[in-house]
Amino acid sequence: AARLREYAGPTIFSEMTALAQETGAANLGQGFPDSDGPPELLDAARDAIARGMNQYPPAIGLPALRGAIAARRADDHGVSYDPDHEIVVTAGATEAIAAALIGLCDPGDEVIVFDPLYDSYSACLAMAQVRRVPVLLEYDGTRFAFDPDALRRAVGPRTKVLLLNTPHNPTGKVFDEAELELIARLCVEHDLIAVTDEVYEYLVYDRVRHLSLAALPGMRERVLSISSAGKTFSSTGWKVGWACGPARLVGTVRTVKQYLTFGTGTPLQAAVAVALTDCMPWVEELRASLERRRDLLVAGLRAGGITTYPSHGTYFVQMDARSFGSEDGQALCRALVTEAGVAAIPSVALYDDKAAGRHLVRLAFCKDEDLLSRAARRLAGHARAARPL
Ligand code: PMP
Ligand code: GLN
Repeated sequence: AARLREYAGPTIFSEMTALAQETGAANLGQGFPDSDGPPELLDAARDAIARGMNQYPPAIGLPALRGAIAARRADDHGVSYDPDHEIVVTAGATEAIAAALIGLCDPGDEVIVFDPLYDSYSACLAMAQVRRVPVLLEYDGTRFAFDPDALRRAVGPRTKVLLLNTPHNPTGKVFDEAELELIARLCVEHDLIAVTDEVYEYLVYDRVRHLSLAALPGMRERVLSISSAGKTFSSTGWKVGWACGPARLVGTVRTVKQYLTFGTGTPLQAAVAVALTDCMPWVEELRASLERRRDLLVAGLRAGGITTYPSHGTYFVQMDARSFGSEDGQALCRALVTEAGVAAIPSVALYDDKAAGRHLVRLAFCKDEDLLSRAARRLAGHARAARPL
């Protein structure tokens, strides 16, 4: 259909990974870790396959996994969900987001999103024939923040959903309590549903806490909380995700997802149930190691005179193309692959407001320390060579 034409062709993530593979560049583009998840997770999957868990799961997900998700949400956020009616397992967070937008909105409705936004959001909104209403996250000298008035102005008579990603890709912003309270108030006032993408929920740094919007007073009944095992257990290729929320919202996601994929990898679901129960100490180690790797990369870039922006979560940190004498992050990323041997993502690909994101470049630090050091040295060298003497 005409409305999907602009989404034809590979995504920026596939494109940069292919380029990195072709050229042998250090791949700090697509966000996936270069080491495996906890051994218990991998063993549990092998075990489930050996035990014959190889046929369709229940469409709503294995009971063991739904139970484990409920236990985590209760422990982490004090929000309880009934695994039989208020949780659904999906093919990654991506399917949960798609099913939510398709199921909760009618054509012509509006969805508020913070800009920049993860690439699947725009495509899914186009599929659902829903208009996206962006609210810009602007860097104010210390952090990326939105203008509360701009958020209020974004609400109109057709607004159905507010879609919130925290910790936020690509900025690394973790929405704080005051921001979430403001968002919550607006949702209550205008009777909006909030869909939260929390796939980086455990990957937060600098003692910052990830807060779930669903845990704020009065919000449990109007929030669909989405997450997945990909980032938490370094298993991005497994595509095991889920959504939690009141039965009216989860029921809608269940309806859509049963006809999109019906179910997702039975033995993988069994293994993720084990990991959510037994491997949270491993996740804390992963978190701490990602924080160190972020620091390593940022220190290397800064030593080369490259401006970076604060990131308190996710796999990502952004740098400024202007440190390389360029206003154009997209052109810089193309040059960096061939001339510096580093693949990165031009953040503009994730911006609705192209002018706002033009000079930003996203780097993934979920990589081996040697690779990060090498990439930082190459970037620093490239930036020095590009700057006037
Ligand atoms: N949301 C965000 C913000 C992401 O960065 C990603 C990519 N990893 C996803 C959703 C997709 O998650 P999944 O792989 O579980 O579908
Ligand atoms: N979430 C990953 C990123 O932002 C990409 C996942 C994908 O390629 N769809 O890099």
